[in-house]
Amino acid sequence: MEMENLRSVLDWDNCKECGECLVNCRYMNLSRQDAIDEIKKINKRDLASSKVLKKCISCYACDAFCPNGAHPYERIHYNWDYRYKIKGLPMRASYLMPSRQPNFRENLPFSPKEKALHKKWASDVPPAKVVLYPGCNLLSMPRLAEGAIFERLPVWGRWDLCCGEMYFRMGLLEPTARIAEKLTEFYKDKNLDEMVFICPAGYNMFTNVLPKQFGAKFPFKTTFFTDWFLNELDKGTFTIKHKLNKSVVMHDSCHARVLGDEFMDKQRILLKQLGVTIHETPKNKKHGLCCGVAAGTNRYSVFDLSIAGIKEIFTLDRASGDDIVAYCTGCLLTLSCFRLLNPFGKRLVHPLEYVREAIGEKVTRTNQKKAFWALLGIMTHALPAYLNPKRFYV
Ligand code: SF4
Ligand code: SF4
Repeated sequence: MEMENLRSVLDWDNCKECGECLVNCRYMNLSRQDAIDEIKKINKRDLASSKVLKKCISCYACDAFCPNGAHPYERIHYNWDYRYKIKGLPMRASYLMPSRQPNFRENLPFSPKEKALHKKWASDVPPAKVVLYPGCNLLSMPRLAEGAIFERLPVWGRWDLCCGEMYFRMGLLEPTARIAEKLTEFYKDKNLDEMVFICPAGYNMFTNVLPKQFGAKFPFKTTFFTDWFLNELDKGTFTIKHKLNKSVVMHDSCHARVLGDEFMDKQRILLKQLGVTIHETPKNKKHGLCCGVAAGTNRYSVFDLSIAGIKEIFTLDRASGDDIVAYCTGCLLTLSCFRLLNPFGKRLVHPLEYVREAIGEKVTRTNQKKAFWALLGIMTHALPAYLNPKRFYV
């Protein structure tokens, strides 16, 4: 996938080099003039002297800041893609890659109940016309998707139907394009009407990124879980049996920021309907911080990832609210890793857990256990790879 093929899709010529995107970045600390100089370097593919290209943590927020829809984030990607084509990836990145074995999600230990869920969800044909796409994060914590809701909305998916988000976030354009092709081929004759997503990353990949930037074609409607569930509540399929007396602080995900205010507000509307009181961090929504996972995708660095993740969990712990709500399953797992550093901080919760409690179900929580094993896997597989000088291509 060459830059020229994507110029029109990404409104390449819309960039006014105004610097609005980068001056708002919470990680680069740029003045307006520095931001203008940086976007010029990014547009010229000046990898050698651009601070942003070296230090950007891939949080995606600059796309939300651009008033001209000129995709500054994807401009950064083009540079990283060019770097990848020349140099490949260091071996320390291997454990983070969905297609490589072992990798930090598939390498988690799974109980017999969890394995049974994986098996059930991997049926050859879809169990219904409307299904829930699990994505790698729900596959990592499958017991989130138990109970009555998933009798009505069966989960259908498996590890190898990865949405390619990790490649996209690393700016690996050709591997992302291969995923778009593979998923188009897989889903073309599956007779699905609607695919519902519990993870904003998978939702954005299937709704926007893969079709609009990488030519994927999906013969079904895509819906985010919150919209699906609110609609089911309206229809009376489910009823809130008891309001929850909870107070939470919100963590918004990278993909949620580009999906927009309406999307982020919807998550809050659902929680309020369940009886949850919402608090915010001093800078929130599109100005909020990354959970950390994206920060590892520029320099493939566990240290970059840790610094960003610790910054966010401390920010959330300092805010009001008893629990932290992370409505992205990926953020939930990543922030849970940093929770291990301060086990006495706020509890990390996915809204689905509140939903299931409110309709009268008991939820088996696994995020902290999975985070422990994910962290151990990273320490034993990714850290030793820092000493390996080899490089690889996906
Ligand atoms: S990408 Fe958008 S915000 Fe950034 S410099 Fe270009 S026009 Fe301005
Ligand atoms: S992706 Fe995030 S860290 Fe990188 S330049 Fe954009 S806003 Fe800043």
